[in-house]
Amino acid sequence: MAGEPQADCLFCKIVAGEVPATVVRETETTVAFRDINPQAPTHVLVVPKAHYRDAATLAAAEPQLTADLLREAGEVAAEDKVVGTGYRIVFNTGSGAGQTIWHAHLHVLGGRGLDWPPG
Ligand code: 5GP
Ligand code: ZN
Repeated sequence: MAGEPQADCLFCKIVAGEVPATVVRETETTVAFRDINPQAPTHVLVVPKAHYRDAATLAAAEPQLTADLLREAGEVAAEDKVVGTGYRIVFNTGSGAGQTIWHAHLHVLGGRGLDWPPG
């Protein structure tokens, strides 16, 4: 069923506490944790607790939950003190864009200069 945990999903396991992660924030609907392979001084992933395969699927099914993720991205940036210098919110969608985990998530990247357009 839409949103149900998937047995083979790494981020469902992190949400359930079955795989350890450095959690920086948690709400009723979201979890934010540090990326295991950080690409910037601040590199945090924000995920919905419910399982959706990508950002567009999540947005179509659960607009409020999508907004929750974006609000949490802002809270993470504030806690990591990167609001002043700027930060980037990224949803890689599809393998051609670098998506490797098929549980919707956004990246919060900051704490260094960020080129535009990205590579
Ligand atoms: P994607 O490439 O799908 O947009 O992002 C997946 C991210 O998950 C990558 O940046 C990768 O480093 C991160 N990642 C993969 N496995 C783990 C893990 O076990 N723990 C954490 N904290 N991050 C992970
Ligand atoms: Zn999942």
